[in-house]
Amino acid sequence: MAIFRSVFDNFLHLRRNGYFLDAVKEFRRYGGTSMNIVNFPEYVYSPKRHYEEIYQETISVAGEVSHTGINTVITLGPYPLDYFFFRSAGEDPVASMKAGIDMAAALIRGGMADAMGEIGFPHFPVDWDVYSDSGKILEYALDVCNDYDIPLILHTEDMSSDGYAKIENIIKRHYRIDRVMKHHANSFDMGYPGHILKSLVASRNNVRAALESGKDFLLETDYTDQNEKPGKVIPVYSVPKRCEMIKNSCENYSEVFHRIFEEIPYRFYRKEFFNL
Ligand SMILES: [Zn+2]
Repeated sequence: MAIFRSVFDNFLHLRRNGYFLDAVKEFRRYGGTSMNIVNFPEYVYSPKRHYEEIYQETISVAGEVSHTGINTVITLGPYPLDYFFFRSAGEDPVASMKAGIDMAAALIRGGMADAMGEIGFPHFPVDWDVYSDSGKILEYALDVCNDYDIPLILHTEDMSSDGYAKIENIIKRHYRIDRVMKHHANSFDMGYPGHILKSLVASRNNVRAALESGKDFLLETDYTDQNEKPGKVIPVYSVPKRCEMIKNSCENYSEVFHRIFEEIPYRFYRKEFFNL
């Protein structure tokens, strides 16, 4: 049962070898109406063809999802851990990932996809070379997105207030801060100053913190479609499920739904279906 005319999961990964359309149907059954589909981070293609193959696959997966009546946003780009894939294959990770950024930008400009991501730093400690190269790749992506006004989604480690300040400084040197979003944010992120739009994992605790902050936010599952590991990921229906909680805890719930499922996504992605 739809609880609102628009219920948007701002970040998830789907694949044919996972639950795929069954997961989409479940999302829909709980009231979900739209989703941002991000490349599935896996290494099944040759390094030379990696981006070409995963981007085409993501676009094709999203096409099938849209046939089920779900509106889709498509996000393409190098994932920070691709670095290790290219390095162990004897390829230059920086050059390969920059080429992946160029290819994603070309597809987005051609109308095949909507946003660049997920770009940034590995979510675990890495040695200085990897960290520094990841910074170069991020700066390159920011420049490319700046050239073509493409929204950029960040993947980073969990950040402190200082971490946010540092990354905002990098962004401001290359792009507009309002065109950049941090995905997989948590409740404590809402308390930090700064202007990066945060997309929170749709747990009850995070939703509560986001509502209390009064700031802009989006909700996501970061669902990873792996039927070999059921129960290891947040359920695909978590965003529509949290709508019940928002409805029960906010008097102005329809205003909240309008903001997080229509106004903010429209401002960021500029997809017409959000403009209701
Ligand atoms: Zn991520």
